[in-house]
Amino acid sequence: AVMSRRAFIVGNWKMNGLGPAGAEIDAISAGAPDGPELLICAPATLIHRLSRRGVAIGGQDCHPKSSGAHTGDISAEMLADAGATAVIVGHSERRADHGETDETVAAKAQAARRAGLTAIICVGETEVERDSGAALDVVARQLDGSVPADASAANTVIAYEPVWAIGTGRTPNAAQIGEVHGVIRDWLKARFGAESDTIRILYGGSMKPANAAEILAIADVDGGLIGGASLKASDFLGIAAQA
Ligand code: PGA
Repeated sequence: AVMSRRAFIVGNWKMNGLGPAGAEIDAISAGAPDGPELLICAPATLIHRLSRRGVAIGGQDCHPKSSGAHTGDISAEMLADAGATAVIVGHSERRADHGETDETVAAKAQAARRAGLTAIICVGETEVERDSGAALDVVARQLDGSVPADASAANTVIAYEPVWAIGTGRTPNAAQIGEVHGVIRDWLKARFGAESDTIRILYGGSMKPANAAEILAIADVDGGLIGGASLKASDFLGIAAQA
């Protein structure tokens, strides 16, 4: 929570959302507080329908290439064409379900930049890595590999999402979150210099209205990436109101 960085509250709907989702977006638009920037990362099928309704819409993944023989894939250019302004890359569910490596994630972040989208690059340790004391090393290694060499501060957002906190109702304590965000902030400074001051670092993993104030007050937490609690406008707005 630093004045030079506007709080960024991002919903990740994952593989959820059918026709009635439009009403949810309209409710978010109607109830949006003045302070934070809001974004909903919707399934690709909904991006065109939900964009231009008063809430920024993002994608959840993109292919590294702009077009071609890649059945079932969607490029960053296509997301932008449908009305998206951002895309999540390297979410742990994609790293796990689709075998995405840091190298793949970096290529996707590059594609986002090429298409004019903000890249929300996800990092985070597993429970085994946390328990063995490796969390900080894992996050630094993921940053080294997943943030492309030509990333710009303007199109880069980092999301710290401990894998064991996603969808579990468990979160790290404030000191643990602050420690990782501090390491990420230092990494960004070393990498981007003074420009790094503008890059937002989001926390993600079981954020909800009841814990948002405490998490958003931690140094170097500039917003949240919210899964389950982004599916209902009232929950998402309950978090945004505390940013
Ligand atoms: P959760 O998911 O808020 O449901 O834990 C967060 C995420 O995976 O982005």
